[in-house]
Amino acid sequence: MRLTEHDGKGVLQRHGVAIPRGRLLRGAPGPGDAGVLKAQILEGGRGLRGLVRRSNPGEAPEVAAAIRAALGDAAAPLLLEEALPLTREIYLALRIDGTAQCIEMLCAPAGGVAVEHASGLLRCGIEPEAPGALETLFATLRAGFAPELAARLARLALRLARILQAEDLELLEVNPLGLLPDGRLVACDAKLVRDDAAGFRQAAPDLSAALEEAALTPLERRARAQGFQLVDLPGGTVAMITAGAGLGMLMLDLLADAGCPAACFMDNANGGPAETMPERLALAFEIAARPEVKAVMFFTTLASRGLRGRVEALAAALRATPPTKPFLAGIAAGHVALRGYPLDQARADLAAVGVTALHDNPQDLVRAVAAAVRG
Ligand code: GDP
Ligand code: MN
Repeated sequence: MRLTEHDGKGVLQRHGVAIPRGRLLRGAPGPGDAGVLKAQILEGGRGLRGLVRRSNPGEAPEVAAAIRAALGDAAAPLLLEEALPLTREIYLALRIDGTAQCIEMLCAPAGGVAVEHASGLLRCGIEPEAPGALETLFATLRAGFAPELAARLARLALRLARILQAEDLELLEVNPLGLLPDGRLVACDAKLVRDDAAGFRQAAPDLSAALEEAALTPLERRARAQGFQLVDLPGGTVAMITAGAGLGMLMLDLLADAGCPAACFMDNANGGPAETMPERLALAFEIAARPEVKAVMFFTTLASRGLRGRVEALAAALRATPPTKPFLAGIAAGHVALRGYPLDQARADLAAVGVTALHDNPQDLVRAVAAAVRG
């Protein structure tokens, strides 16, 4: 879950990180209000889009109205903060590096709205509890900062890494980290992304939860209520039914490479793939009704669960609701799953309910899907 800046700064403040003084405005600013007004949306790049603006005393109501007009929402919550005199804008981020299985620190000495174009990115992996963590950070940051500032940044980065762990974050990005004339470092912006798997032990902040909910499409909202995650992918040509996230990502890439991108992505949030199969099928069929969607693709893997049970469940669902577009299935089953029920039998049983093809290899399946999409 992505937290709004306001919620993210709340987390940082609870952990003792300096943030600008400010408050959330639900209504119009008062006549005495002044400072930086900031749209609270889940996308970045607000500065470049005119959604972060300074206002002098007396101007705040007009500036707030202009930001809300640009958002197309007259009631959009805004963050009103003191305008701080920044002598320098630094980009500092901590993220989970999934490949290296560690926390990585990233720092651009020239941060701010154009950080994508900045050169001289400093980075290193860190283990917050390891004895040399602070020294590693200092050595890395020293390449871009004078010793005194590098030392303070290293301590802040270590603190942020511990916050990342305590708060179950995948990303904690501060851009800009503002340097004030008196030498203080203040987090002027905050982008925090929480690991969704930690939802059971981390309460979702109200504003972030409301924005996330509002951003869902009707189908995505229905999927969530039914206990799984659906991502609508407009423009896709294949209604894709998968269960696990890793397998789903793999198939998403294979389909895109084959020139027939997926129209949706599914992740069974609650484990066992069997429970939501009819619901996932129903949503996929609704997506398949779109004119640009040319085929439905089902893919799953089975290690120890029996193939027969899965095929019977799928066949029953397809008998109840026959597919209206070519339906191609893939099941990669281990030898335990195949016991007493070979793949050829599954192929015949599925063909009887209108399944165009059954493959056990994802590459073969995707090739067949691409051919079906081309017609
Ligand atoms: P983003 O573009 O969505 O990342 O929004 P930011 O919160 O980073 O704001 C964009 C830019 O506004 C920053 O890079 C700063 O240059 C500027 N800004 C934001 N807050 C302050 C502040 O308190 N003082 C000053 N001087 N500039 C600010
Ligand atoms: Mn920013």
